[in-house]
Amino acid sequence: MESVQIVRSRRKTIAIQITPDGQVILRLPLTYPKAKIPEILAQYHNWIEEKVQKFQTQKKQVPQHKFSEGETFLYLGKEYPLHLTHQTSQPLFWNEDGFWLRKTDPEQARKWFLSWYQEKALAYFTERARAFEKKFTHQTYQIKLSNARSRWGSCSSRGVIRLSWRLIMAPPDIIDSVIVHELAHFVHPNHSKEFWNLVSTEYPDYKKARRWLRNFGHLLVI
Ligand SMILES: [Zn+2]
Repeated sequence: MESVQIVRSRRKTIAIQITPDGQVILRLPLTYPKAKIPEILAQYHNWIEEKVQKFQTQKKQVPQHKFSEGETFLYLGKEYPLHLTHQTSQPLFWNEDGFWLRKTDPEQARKWFLSWYQEKALAYFTERARAFEKKFTHQTYQIKLSNARSRWGSCSSRGVIRLSWRLIMAPPDIIDSVIVHELAHFVHPNHSKEFWNLVSTEYPDYKKARRWLRNFGHLLVI
């Protein structure tokens, strides 16, 4: 968690405030026992994380692609240059040298990229979930894509895991962290201590992955 600034004053109630630069301020009555502070922070942990993330996403606006020669696009955590071409059977394809896009207007190009990323995302996420699933579930489940920009994954009791297609632009270990997180919800449909213990058996560095998504998640855009 981010550093927390504690401000005591002659107030009767507790308040938590997040400043736009991500500072957490905990306002307490003068006599509030210090020993109870970790408890409050634990209780509001998710709420604080969400607020901090929201501010950070707002702060970092990324300019949209113009789809011109040489611009870079992310795929599985690596940047690839864009090449415009007239000679393609497919409107967009990818190889180790970059993305190859048939010349068109930006609006159409964006659509081609979107469907390319979504197709890769569904196949890749499904394959990675298969690699982890045995530890977490024996029930059948489905993977679907979402368009979310900061809620990277969710898991429903009906057995649907929704993952933002944007994750296909992130490094493979970051994608794994989100998949493990959602699969672990089949065992613990909450964020209890047991849940995090289970996550860490398959993915010990989950805190680092969360931090990565908080810091760089805004870059996962077309
Ligand atoms: Zn969760």
